[in-house]
Amino acid sequence: MILHPFLSLSAQAGETPASFCSRVALKVGRSAREFADDIGITFQSIVDGVADSIAILAQVCGADATIFDRSTLVRTGNRTYDLAGQVFTRETLTRGNVFVCPACIAEDLDSLDARYGAYGRAQWQIEAMRVCLRHGCLLIPTCHDTNPHRAHDFAWHIHARMEDILGAPGVMMPEASNALAQYLSRRIEGTEPSSWLSSMPAFAAAKSCEFVGLTIRYGVHAPWKSMTSSDWHQAGSEGYALLSAGPGALTAYFQDLRRAAPATEYGFRAIYGRIFDYLSHDNQSEAFASIRKVLRDHLLETRAFGPDDLVLGTAVGTRRLHSVRSLAVETGKDARMLLRRLRALGIVAKSKTRMQHDRILFDAQTNAALLDKMVNALDRPEAERYLNLGRTQGYLLNPPFLAPFWIEGLHSAEHLFLKPDLDAFLAMITRNATPLQSGEEGFLRIGKAASRSQRPAALVVQLLMFGRLTKVRLDPDSKGVDAILVDPEEVREFLNPMANLVAVRMLMSELRCSQNTAQALMETGALPSRIERHPINRLQCRLAEISDVEAFKAEYVSVYILAEEVGMHVRQLGDRLIELAVPTAFDPEEIGTSFYRRSELLPFMHKLRT
Ligand SMILES: [Zn+2]
Repeated sequence: MILHPFLSLSAQAGETPASFCSRVALKVGRSAREFADDIGITFQSIVDGVADSIAILAQVCGADATIFDRSTLVRTGNRTYDLAGQVFTRETLTRGNVFVCPACIAEDLDSLDARYGAYGRAQWQIEAMRVCLRHGCLLIPTCHDTNPHRAHDFAWHIHARMEDILGAPGVMMPEASNALAQYLSRRIEGTEPSSWLSSMPAFAAAKSCEFVGLTIRYGVHAPWKSMTSSDWHQAGSEGYALLSAGPGALTAYFQDLRRAAPATEYGFRAIYGRIFDYLSHDNQSEAFASIRKVLRDHLLETRAFGPDDLVLGTAVGTRRLHSVRSLAVETGKDARMLLRRLRALGIVAKSKTRMQHDRILFDAQTNAALLDKMVNALDRPEAERYLNLGRTQGYLLNPPFLAPFWIEGLHSAEHLFLKPDLDAFLAMITRNATPLQSGEEGFLRIGKAASRSQRPAALVVQLLMFGRLTKVRLDPDSKGVDAILVDPEEVREFLNPMANLVAVRMLMSELRCSQNTAQALMETGALPSRIERHPINRLQCRLAEISDVEAFKAEYVSVYILAEEVGMHVRQLGDRLIELAVPTAFDPEEIGTSFYRRSELLPFMHKLRT
């Protein structure tokens, strides 16, 4: 069936196919549904934007179907529609409620189609398009479409209320308030360049502009439900100004909200109000992913979350920030102790330490390695327990044995030690140790062995550090330093010769003689001696007991020392002794110096003192 041109109307640019169908139906005295049935299609298929039905409608009415290309709302899913490539949801379209511009309607009535000329614009169905860009006035609702038979029957609704519409007082919008409406219009016309905001579906971009703008205008806790269409329109424009500047501007806005809230406040709803609700539990739609990501990043930058925490629907994954409290919870350590250490290590500024533990934030990534060391470090008492040190062995936690990892800004007891350092030290001093076998006797703990040798225990530990001791055992019933057992005989061997044995050099100074003489005295047996390993350099050498040296000095005296004792010149004294026929104790040729027995000198002493 082709309608006689006299009965048809001219389709308008921007008109919805449903409006066109409705207008022609009214002209031929039918409802839109009846007319669609008459031409073999359903009105619902026109409302849903089915291309084949629209083609039939156009053909019947002598219209070019391509005129509807950018003005057909195509139903693409249960609640989604496509308008010229832009996505909208049922909630963001007016659909049942018909919005019109009274000025446009008045103009339409002057067109060639006269009383059937008032047509429905596709853009009027977008909720966020709240004004007529041509006339600058607010769109007005004409009815709430409850009669299912008349749903979307645009011309019928308009004609039923024509007087009200034409008589409605026009509400003009401030001139600079159309930014969002113009933006949406450009997206539908296909002239908007790509941008961060336009990466979001049109309905989500518009909604975001509106609620962000509403928050800017009326605060985070403003009740959305009580806002008028005019409020939303102006909010949309302000929100667009912010969001069209990109995600950085939105982040800055969130930072402002954070700063504006009291420092002690960290409830998300209290700080970000409805925005937080809308992007979290109220609405899980992926369409808002871009804007949700900005809020999420901002939250992660301003609050400490653990890797398993869900923030706006997504697990944190890698922790960005720690607070003193979150570190305490995660590590099970005392928060005050952690704060002292954080301050000492310079991770937390001194000025922040009076804040609540939740609010003292620091970068968990940059400080990861240091935090790990710090958290697992032991203070002095802990390190003593870890190494199982005895009451008097605290010196082992100082150089030259061990050194704290951190001392700055900490009391001595708080000095920090790293477990690997302690482990390495223990491994070093026990490297020659084997477990004590049953039947092995005579081994003593370090302290006991030291007192047995009358030498400081530190020297015994040094022998262990240098690996000198070969007989080292570990008490299977103890651990750490306390478990170390040494052989007191071996210890004495190393430590006592230092006191009791005299090598050539020391003998030279004791007797004030030459090296040759000192050696000759020991080698000829004039002074008892033996060959032994030197305790320090481990070389074989001749050593004399100090007691033998003392006995020698009491019995013998060299001509040099005697000269000093009697106050004579050495050569003069030598001549005098020959004169007096005092015998030398040893062969002067062999020894290299004349020695005399003090007992044989006694009768002549008065003759020697001049
Ligand atoms: Zn208008």
